[in-house]
Amino acid sequence: MRALTYQGPFRVRVENKPDPRLEHPQDVILRVTKSAICGSDLHLLHGLVPDTRVGHTFGHEFTGVVEETGTEVSQLRKGDRVVVPFNISCGGCFYCERGLTALCENSNPSSDVACGVYGYSHTTGGYDGGQAEYVRVPYADVGPLKIPDDMEDEEVLFLGDILPTGYMGAEMGEIKGGETVVVFGAGPVGVFAMRSAWLMGAGRVVAVDCVQYRLDFAERFAKVETVNFQEVGDVVAYLKEMFEGRGPDVCIDAVGMEAEGSTSHRVMGLGLKLEAGAPTVLSWCIDAVRKGGNVSIVGVYGPPWNVMPIGTAMNKGLTLRMNQCNVRRYMPHLLKHIREGRIDAKAIITHRFGLEDAPEAYHLFAQKRDGCVKCVLTP
Ligand code: NAD
Ligand code: ZN
Ligand code: ZN
Repeated sequence: MRALTYQGPFRVRVENKPDPRLEHPQDVILRVTKSAICGSDLHLLHGLVPDTRVGHTFGHEFTGVVEETGTEVSQLRKGDRVVVPFNISCGGCFYCERGLTALCENSNPSSDVACGVYGYSHTTGGYDGGQAEYVRVPYADVGPLKIPDDMEDEEVLFLGDILPTGYMGAEMGEIKGGETVVVFGAGPVGVFAMRSAWLMGAGRVVAVDCVQYRLDFAERFAKVETVNFQEVGDVVAYLKEMFEGRGPDVCIDAVGMEAEGSTSHRVMGLGLKLEAGAPTVLSWCIDAVRKGGNVSIVGVYGPPWNVMPIGTAMNKGLTLRMNQCNVRRYMPHLLKHIREGRIDAKAIITHRFGLEDAPEAYHLFAQKRDGCVKCVLTP
């Protein structure tokens, strides 16, 4: 089969690989129908994720049709259309029983930190991903959600990651009604966090980014106010001023680590270069939020970014919450939001490519050009 694989920092290509096979009675093999590129894939592309091996197939946001089923699979049959959560979870461990599928103990036994994730390096188990013609799905009775017959793949594709992640970002901000919310990052995750903040009853929602077309998109898609941090000087002071000198109730980090040499890093200029591993955007969240406020982190971090201004957070009495998204628990609820027209998830797709053109799609998405918000591949 054809698959998009890692070739070293800033390099990916489409190559031939053996078709995946059933390796366990609870596996299914999916023929992939749609596969998206995520901001998390850019961390891989930029060589920021430890133990990313040459030849590893990327892709953790996909829909597909069941092609083959293991002997212990009871919920799926050949021909079923499914959308698959990016975290691989066993369904039966201490954490899975509590809905905390991102903390599954069994899907990546080599780590006591990270659960199994499709196409996300050997740090998360080395499972090949879904930017390919076929993919092996372990614990197939647990994760995959059947796609209703009257819905297209693209309508539900983002249930596998970025929609639940954005939603969880707002939920961790404890938005109950009337809160002021600033979302850093107007990418796919950020705009879904903004939509979710409104659904939870936020009183005011502001997007911060440096890529103007993304801010314009957020304004249209999520009906938010926008701040281009390159144009306002001291963005923390600017945000405090916007919210009565105190700052917003909630800051959401939908950015995470940014590679040196990545577009937004270049756009930000040397003055904002990461120093001693301190992540710029997380410091902004902690500095800008009002005392006693909530900081919600869905942006992905890893070494050498494992540094944060904990003293400021402590003295301001902040609540910090962060998680890899427990995708499965949000899927049914968010499917309902999509069906009933409250979230038009498909509307964030700006670019569609065949699998063969995936490397071009990666660079377009990474470089934040041509109005790109989200790329979807059709194998
Ligand atoms: P993306 O790269 O498309 O978007 C990130 C946006 O942040 C870009 O528009 C960029 O210009 C902007 N940005 C960069 N530096 C900034 C700064 N200092 N302040 C404000 N904006 C800034 O990525 P995405 O797909 O939207 O994903 C966002 C983050 O969420 C990534 O770190 C990704 O790994 C993470 N993520 C986490 C989970 C999870 O389970 N927690 C799931 C999916 C994605
Ligand atoms: Zn993702
Ligand atoms: Zn488990």
